[in-house]
Amino acid sequence: MAGEWAPTGIDTSRPSPARIYDWLLGGKDNFAADRAAGERILRAAPHSVTAARENRAFLRRAVEYLTDQGVDQFLDIGTGLPTRDSVHEVAQRRLPGARVVYVDNDPIVSVHARALLSSTDNVALVEADLRDPAAIWADAQVRELIDFTRPVAVLLLAILHFVPDEDDPHAIVASLLSRAAPGSFLVVTHSTADLAPELSREVEQVYDGASASLHTRSRNEVERLLTGTEPVEPGLVFTSQWRPAPGTDVADPKEAALYAAVGRKP
Ligand code: SAH
Repeated sequence: MAGEWAPTGIDTSRPSPARIYDWLLGGKDNFAADRAAGERILRAAPHSVTAARENRAFLRRAVEYLTDQGVDQFLDIGTGLPTRDSVHEVAQRRLPGARVVYVDNDPIVSVHARALLSSTDNVALVEADLRDPAAIWADAQVRELIDFTRPVAVLLLAILHFVPDEDDPHAIVASLLSRAAPGSFLVVTHSTADLAPELSREVEQVYDGASASLHTRSRNEVERLLTGTEPVEPGLVFTSQWRPAPGTDVADPKEAALYAAVGRKP
């Protein structure tokens, strides 16, 4: 929409994954190009709102599980725009001293998250790229908040599908894990075309015009990304199937649409 306010340096003409996802979740930090992309995604794959919500619900259950395991430090790479039940909110509800470093390469995430987090203890936001994992571990704020000698949870939710094979996502994950202490966890969700190849191709086409393209992967490929970790029960499943709260309805995997797993570094 012409005349919409945008922070300096933000390209509003091209949809961005963070803002499309914000729109799918009912957020307000998006622009006309993002909404148009979101509407195209919904026309191709009407379940995308459910998929986004189930991904967030998985995030909450996974962080609760991890705090139950005593994990009190989190590196959330591909944070997205602030929304309900962010990692630090879920973690600090259970462990008030929990430390969380958010990492995202979209400047709009920095603008909104920094404003929101400036008065929150033990939480930081770093603008960096997943494709340079060494720079993430070397970052001053990461080093200040994360104790490398103790287990840390590395969260890669709905981000690895924005890394093409040419950028070697496998090596990126291996590099992140190499610096994590034994007993650390890796949490992954990943878009797939396994259940609906046609729909997924159409959705990929929408992202071709965005600031990052989408690369769905098969179950085997996602499993390979978890190399070096031992999967926690129930292993690699769709988001809605991962330790659902007892007594709740489990969304159809076709609607949840993203693979999910928590792996532990032995
Ligand atoms: N993890 C959140 C948000 C997912 S949206 C959740 O699952 O709910 C994907 C996020 O990854 C966006 O905010 C996007 O800006 C970020 N992202 C995509 N590619 C990235 C990269 N190479 N490095 C860092 N962040 C990236």
